[in-house]
Amino acid sequence: MRARNNGKTDHGRKLKPESLMMSYGYNPEWSEGAIKSPIFQTSTFVFKSAEQGKAFFEVAYGLREQRPGEKTGLIYSRINNPDLEILEDRLTLWDEAEDCAVFESGMGAITTAFLEFLKPGDLVLTSAPLYGGTDHFLLTFLPKIGIEVMEFQPREEPEAIVKRLEASGKREKLAMIYIETPANPTNALIDIAACRGIADRFGGPGKRVLIAVDNTYMGPLWQHPLKHGADLVLYSATKYIGGHSDVIAGACLGSKELIHRVKVLRTFLGNMAGPMTGWLLMRSLETLKIRMERQALNAEVVAAWLTRHPKVEKVYYLGLLTAEDGQQYRIYKKQHNSPGAMMSFDIKRSEGAPGPADPAADEAAAFRFLNRLKLIKLAVSLGSTESLAEHPATMTHIGVGEQHRAEMSITAKLIRLSVGVEDAQDIIWDIGQALEGV
Ligand SMILES: *Cc1c(COP(=O)(O)O)cnc(C)c1O
Repeated sequence: MRARNNGKTDHGRKLKPESLMMSYGYNPEWSEGAIKSPIFQTSTFVFKSAEQGKAFFEVAYGLREQRPGEKTGLIYSRINNPDLEILEDRLTLWDEAEDCAVFESGMGAITTAFLEFLKPGDLVLTSAPLYGGTDHFLLTFLPKIGIEVMEFQPREEPEAIVKRLEASGKREKLAMIYIETPANPTNALIDIAACRGIADRFGGPGKRVLIAVDNTYMGPLWQHPLKHGADLVLYSATKYIGGHSDVIAGACLGSKELIHRVKVLRTFLGNMAGPMTGWLLMRSLETLKIRMERQALNAEVVAAWLTRHPKVEKVYYLGLLTAEDGQQYRIYKKQHNSPGAMMSFDIKRSEGAPGPADPAADEAAAFRFLNRLKLIKLAVSLGSTESLAEHPATMTHIGVGEQHRAEMSITAKLIRLSVGVEDAQDIIWDIGQALEGV
């Protein structure tokens, strides 16, 4: 039913993604002239003839080459559904990806990519820290099926990583590099192009070491990993893409060839998104750019204000990087077109010089701050219209070992903030009144 138009319209102009989010991939004639795609709440699709049913199955199962212009026909909603297909087409525009597969959660997208592209005996190299759910799957499930995991730190030099890989005696096994950049919650950056360099050193003719990037923190607007050499981009669409804290969803983007493989496994794992999720995300995408732009503007104002507050010791926000930060600043300039809207900061208990180290007192101070917030909600998740605050050490990162947490500056005094679309001065007012209680 779809007519892909590759961003072109009848007017012969290549339109920007934000101009296409209301209409791309959908034709009102398909649905009685409805300006918006209906929710195709249906499990199965009626074939025009037995011959057509046969042809659809042949293509879906890859039993023959597709004829020019032939698409996978609509068969059954575990395989495809119009709300998912239109959504997938729209999502490809932001990252200029060839194809996209959407899932009922970010974890669905991430685990399906691991299961499709890794096999027993493989090694996956990952950045640290990773999202808690991803970390758990990597460290507890993948070893059960004979897949090994090796970590590196955001500031580790590529040469040092290569040496460790060589010394491990597992160079032949490397199948994937999996990264999250900026790292959550301290915004440490990883150079995607440098990872491409590592991957190519361990790949060879007939073997491509894949690079997968979880772009939830910065995508799909502020960082485009495919342009820097990544093969797969993964999203928790629950965050900025959904953006309203009312839906859980995920996406995986990349070349036609790789996404075809992801979609085939998705069909058999059965973790595709449902039509209602597809419809909700299409609605979200119409305002994606203005939401994210407003969030980034607010974040800039809030971060600048935080740096001047006497009860704030340190602010971790990409917009505060300067040339003096060396490699981190260079990655930021090269890889991002905005500092985004995620930040974290350390609360200072005593004005002037920092007081003696006392994690229990730091935690108490952080909790007093969080409990006093009035406008900003105390919740995990991020990227939504409302501002959210949380305490990584006892919440999102409680599963990270204590020494690891210390290495990554995830201390008891650290607060993570996802800036929303409210009035910036109202956000500042709320943080200010809550800090008074510290
Ligand atoms: C939330 C999140 C996930 C998991 O996504 P779900 O939609 O909750 O399954 C993965 N990675 C990052 C960076 C996230 O923030």
